[in-house]
Amino acid sequence: MAEPVELPSRLAILPFRNQVLLPGAIIRIRCTSPSSVKLVEQELWQKEEKGLIGVLPVRDTEATGVGSMIAPGMGSDSSGRGLKGVADVVGDSQKQDAKNPQEVIHWHNRGVAARALHLSRGVEKPSGRVTYIVVLEGLCRFNVQELSARGTYYVARVNRLDLTKAELEQAEQDPDLILLSRQFKATAMELIAVLEQKQKTVGRTKALLETVPVHRLADIFVASFEISFEEQLSMLDSVDLKVRLSKATELVDRHLQSIRVAEKITQKVEGQLSKSQKEFLLRQQMRAIKEELGDNDDDEDDVAALERKMQSAGMPPNIWKHAQRELRRLRKMQPQQPGYSSSRGYLELLADLPWQKVSEEPELDLKAAQESLDQDHYGLVKVKQRIIEYLAVRKLKPDARGPVLCFVGPPGVGKTSLASSIAKALNRKFVRISLGGVKDEADIRGHRRTYVGSMPGRLIDGLKRVAVSNPVMLLDEIDKTGSDVRGDPASALLEVLDPEQNKTFNDHYLNVPFDLSKVIFVATANRVQPIPPPLLDRMEVIELPGYTPEEKLKIAMKHLIPRVLEQHGLSSEFLQIPEGMVKLIIQRYTREAGVRNLERNLAALARAAAVKLAEQKDCVVQLSKDVHPMTTSLLDTRLADGSDIEMEVIPMSINRQDISNAFASSLMLVVDEAMLEKVLGPPRFDDRETADRVASPGVSVGLVWTSFGGEVQFVEATTMVGKGDLHLTGQLGDVIKESAQIALTWVRARTADLKLSAAGEINLLENRDIHIHFPAGAVPKDGPSAGVTLVTSLVSLFSQKKVRADTAMTGEMTLRGLVLPVGGIKDKVLAAHRYGIRRVILPERNLKDLAEVPSAILAGMEILLVKRIEDVLEQAFEGGCPWKPQSKL
Ligand code: ADP
Repeated sequence: MAEPVELPSRLAILPFRNQVLLPGAIIRIRCTSPSSVKLVEQELWQKEEKGLIGVLPVRDTEATGVGSMIAPGMGSDSSGRGLKGVADVVGDSQKQDAKNPQEVIHWHNRGVAARALHLSRGVEKPSGRVTYIVVLEGLCRFNVQELSARGTYYVARVNRLDLTKAELEQAEQDPDLILLSRQFKATAMELIAVLEQKQKTVGRTKALLETVPVHRLADIFVASFEISFEEQLSMLDSVDLKVRLSKATELVDRHLQSIRVAEKITQKVEGQLSKSQKEFLLRQQMRAIKEELGDNDDDEDDVAALERKMQSAGMPPNIWKHAQRELRRLRKMQPQQPGYSSSRGYLELLADLPWQKVSEEPELDLKAAQESLDQDHYGLVKVKQRIIEYLAVRKLKPDARGPVLCFVGPPGVGKTSLASSIAKALNRKFVRISLGGVKDEADIRGHRRTYVGSMPGRLIDGLKRVAVSNPVMLLDEIDKTGSDVRGDPASALLEVLDPEQNKTFNDHYLNVPFDLSKVIFVATANRVQPIPPPLLDRMEVIELPGYTPEEKLKIAMKHLIPRVLEQHGLSSEFLQIPEGMVKLIIQRYTREAGVRNLERNLAALARAAAVKLAEQKDCVVQLSKDVHPMTTSLLDTRLADGSDIEMEVIPMSINRQDISNAFASSLMLVVDEAMLEKVLGPPRFDDRETADRVASPGVSVGLVWTSFGGEVQFVEATTMVGKGDLHLTGQLGDVIKESAQIALTWVRARTADLKLSAAGEINLLENRDIHIHFPAGAVPKDGPSAGVTLVTSLVSLFSQKKVRADTAMTGEMTLRGLVLPVGGIKDKVLAAHRYGIRRVILPERNLKDLAEVPSAILAGMEILLVKRIEDVLEQAFEGGCPWKPQSKL
C-alpha cells in the first residue's frame, strides 16, 4: 500500500461523472473525449516520469445536487456552494463528447489525487481517433481551491486534506478512534467470514485487514461495494477519521445484513421448490436456451397441436379414450426419453387415419361409367361388361357384399388401369397396395409396438396415405404372396376380404379395430394357381389374356400415343408415329402379351423427339429475340418462289406458340425406320429366330404358359457316351422332370418301331447319356405341357432329322402315348403368332379353348389337333414322321 505522497499544488483534473474514486481504490477508465484524451496525453503519456492527476467527481445536470460544487476560475467555496462550468471544455471521461455543448457541469469541490498504474493507447479505425485506457490508483483526498482551463482540459490549485504521517500517529491515540477502529474491524471480519463461505478468494482481503492502517481500510472496503453516488460523495467528504470510520462501519454492516437476508430468502425458496417445480424451472430454462439458439421446435406446442389434430380426426369414443390415455403418457415423457418418438408416431397415425372421412359418392351413372371405361381402354368388351354389372349391383344395393374382383393376366394388359377406372367411375380415391414378395404376415397386419422400429401394416398405411375410409384399394399381385416362418399373409388377407370380419380389422401396430368395410377391394394377379384356394374363393376371377398384334396396334394408336405425347409435352403436330412404324415396334422390339414395353418404346421415341424439338425451338426463339433475318426453310421457299419478301422479322412480342405454329411444318417429325433403329437400337426380335434355333436335330419348339403370358419354349436334346443317364437342366420343377422321364421311356420303348437305332452308324440308345436343356436357363419352369415337345426333340435327336421351324406344340403326354389337354391355350396361340409361327399342334380336347382366340389370329394359322403322340410326330417333321411306326399299341 502506498505511503502518503507529496501532493503538488497544481493538478490536472480528470472529471469522473457520477462516480467517485476513493483513496486505495483502483479504477480503469476509458478516455474518449478530446479533452480527457488531451489531458492523458500531456500529463501522463508524454511525460517521462508519470505524475499525479486529480480525479474530480462531476454530477450530471439532471441529478440535482447535494454536496459542494465549484465553477472553473473560481475559488473553492468552503461553505459548499456548488458552481457551474461548461461541458464543451471538459467532457466526460467515460462518455463520448457531450451531446449538448452548452450543457452545464457541476464539479464536486473535493477529489482524490491518483497515480497511473497502467496506460494503453488505441487508434480507432477508420476515423483515426485516439483513445486511452488508464488504470488509476487513488492516493489521497484534496480540496480544490481554484479551477482553471489549460487548453482543452482543467487544472486545479489544490491543498491536501488527508492527515500527514505524524498527524495520523497522534490521532490514533484517541480512545474514541481506537473503539471505532475495533468496531469497524469486527464488522469487516464478519463480512469476510460470510463471503468466505461463498467464494474462496477472500484470503487477500483478510491479509489486508492485518496490514493496512484502519483509515485506509475504511476507504478500500467502501470502494468495493455498490453504493449510491451520494454515499460515495459523503465518504469522500469524510475527512475526519472518526466520521469516516463510523460511516464505513455503517456501510459495511449494511452490506453484511443485505447478504444475510438474501441468503435466507434463497434457502427458504429452495426448500419450497418441489422436484416437479425444479423440473419446470429447468424446462423453462431449456426453452429459453432453445429460443436463444433459434431452435424453435417447441414440444409443448407440438403436443397441443397433435391433440387438436386428434380431436378433429373423428375417432369412435372408445378409441378416443385409448388415444387420450396414450397422449397423457406422452405428456409425461421427455422428448429425449426412449419411448417418446414411438409414442408420438403412434398418436400421429391415430390422428391421421380417416376414421370418418369419406369421398362423397354421387349417384352412379352407369352410362358415364361405361363411357369412361371405353375412353380409357380399348377392347376388353367382356371385362368391361363385368365391371358394369358389378357397378350396377353396387348402385342398387350400395352395401352389397359382392365378391372381390380379381383381374388375372400377364403384365401390361391393363389390370391396374381398369381398377383405377372403377375408382374414377365411383368418384372414389384410388390406392394401390403392392403385395408382390410379401412373405411376412406383419406386412399386412403390422408389427406389435413392442418391436423396435414397428410399423403399421400396408393396408393401414395405405388408408393413411389416401386419407379417406372408402377408397378403391388395389391389392396388386395377390398371387405373389408367400408364406414362411414369419406367418401367412394370405390368412391376414382372408380377414381383410371377408365382409364379416373386416369391420373390425385388427392391425397389430394400431392395436384398436379399424373398419375396412367401406373399402372396395380389387385384386390383380398374373396367375390363378398360386393364389391359396380360400382366398380365391372370396374373389371373382376376370381373365385378361393378352392382346393380339392388331389389338396392340389399336391400343397404341388410340390410347398410348396420345398419352405418351401429352406426357412429353408434345402434340401430334410435332411428332407423328405412323401405323406402319407402330407395327414394326410391335414385331421387332416387343414380344409381350401386354403393352407395357410397347408404351416404353413409344416413350423413348417421344423423348428423342422432345430433345430435337427443344433444340429447334431454342433456335427459333433466339433468332426472334435478336431480331435477326431468319433463314428458315419457310423463308427459303418464299424467296425461291420469287416473291419480293427479302427479310422477315418476327417482333419480340410474338409468343412462343405463334412462333411454333409458324414453323410447325419445319418442326414436324415423322418417325421412320431409320429413326426407330437410331432410338430403339437394332431390332430385337425377328421371325427367323425359330428357323435359326431348330437348324440342327434335337431341338423342338414348345409353347408354355408363364406369368408373363404365353411363351415359346425351345427344348434342346443331345447325347454323348455314358451309362444311359438322363441329365436335365434349365431350372426345372418336379413335374417337368417327370415329363422328361416319361418322354425318354416312351421313345426307348418305341426304338424298334420308330427304327431309331438305324438312323446312324452308332447306336444312339445304347451306352449313351442324354442331356435335355430348356434355354432361358435362369427362368424356373414347371408343368406337364412340355410332354409332346420333349418326345419330339428326342425323336429328332435320335433320328437326326430336323423339326419343322414353322411348328410349335403343347400337350401333356401319358406313358402310353396319349396327348392330354393343357391350359392357357389362348396365350400360347398368341405367343406362337408373335414369334411368327404359323402351325400349332394342340391336344384335340383343347378344341373348345380355341373359341377364345381372336378369329383374326386363327385365320392366319394352321391349328393341328392331335390325340396321340404319333400324330404329333407326323405333323412335326417335314414330310410327316419319317418312320412309319408299325404300331402294336
Ligand atoms: P397391369 O396392371 O396389367 O400390369 P397396367 O394397367 O399398368 O398393366 O397397363 C399398362 C399400360 O398399358 C397402362 O398405361 C394402360 O393404360 C395401358 N393399357 C393396357 N391395356 C389397355 C387397353 N386395353 N386400352 C388402353 N390402354 C391400355
